[in-house]
Amino acid sequence: MRVFAIPMRTRFRGVTRREGALVRGSAGWGEFSPFPEYGPAECARWLAAACEAADEGWPEPLRTRIPVNVTVPAVGADAAHAITRGSGCRTAKVKVAEPGQDEADDIARVEAVRDALGPGGRVRVDANGAWDPDTAVRMITALGELEYAEQPCATLEELAEVRRRVDTPIAADESIRRAEDPLRVRAADAADIVVLKVQPLGGVRAALAVAEACGLPVVVSSAVETSVGLAAGLALAAALPELPYACGLGTLSLLEGDVVREPLAAVDGAIEVRRPEVDEDSLGRYEVEDDGWLRRAAEARSVLDARRAERGVVL
Ligand SMILES: [Mg+2]
Repeated sequence: MRVFAIPMRTRFRGVTRREGALVRGSAGWGEFSPFPEYGPAECARWLAAACEAADEGWPEPLRTRIPVNVTVPAVGADAAHAITRGSGCRTAKVKVAEPGQDEADDIARVEAVRDALGPGGRVRVDANGAWDPDTAVRMITALGELEYAEQPCATLEELAEVRRRVDTPIAADESIRRAEDPLRVRAADAADIVVLKVQPLGGVRAALAVAEACGLPVVVSSAVETSVGLAAGLALAAALPELPYACGLGTLSLLEGDVVREPLAAVDGAIEVRRPEVDEDSLGRYEVEDDGWLRRAAEARSVLDARRAERGVVL
């Protein structure tokens, strides 16, 4: 197991360094990078994803390139325009509802992004659960044509209410943290689209099963991983029977560096489906002392083994 810590270009979830461990098995490298606050029960699924990557590999891909969105942070309209233009992407995800900003800021940012994309571009917004239902309805209406609105409100009940009151499709992201959540989202009529991530769901096969059981269109997103973790997200996106939306896998630019020689970066709005090898020189730049990762992995392993013994599957 090799432990890494890569500085982040942009602060994310309150962290300034993305940390995790890489494991190598007969099928290749796997990434185990649960966030610091997660305990063994949560980490068990992240470990299952790493073990799948290292020991089993992934299902055959059905496509060779995965379209991705550019993510536009809650910046001013001019900066938003420039970020969108410079990305080469045809789909943009615009962050809205940032604390301390006005609704007029969101409207101006979304307009600038729409203008930068030009005809045929698709704009989605992500409120990270920050709006109440009335605000969500008012803002979604004010923002003009959107591909979808991601997590406009925090709870399933609120999402369902907004979904009833607007025509814009609603996507659930934060509402999904474990395998049974997409089914809850569906049962509550809370969303039209689910955002799925490989590590929290326990691997590519587990995520495929979740997608099938849920039956809603899927947007595959990253947990801000190195190219080792992103490869698993690409494998999921490549194996889904249908992929109607650009994915949220273009996140490498949030990290200052990577552990492979040819990173899984977006070119012309898409990422090639492949599995890069860890490069010793690149990893060497970010490798750190164990710092508790061996213990975290061992604790997650105990939970995983107990679950597997209990029911033969990982949930
Ligand atoms: Mg989101």
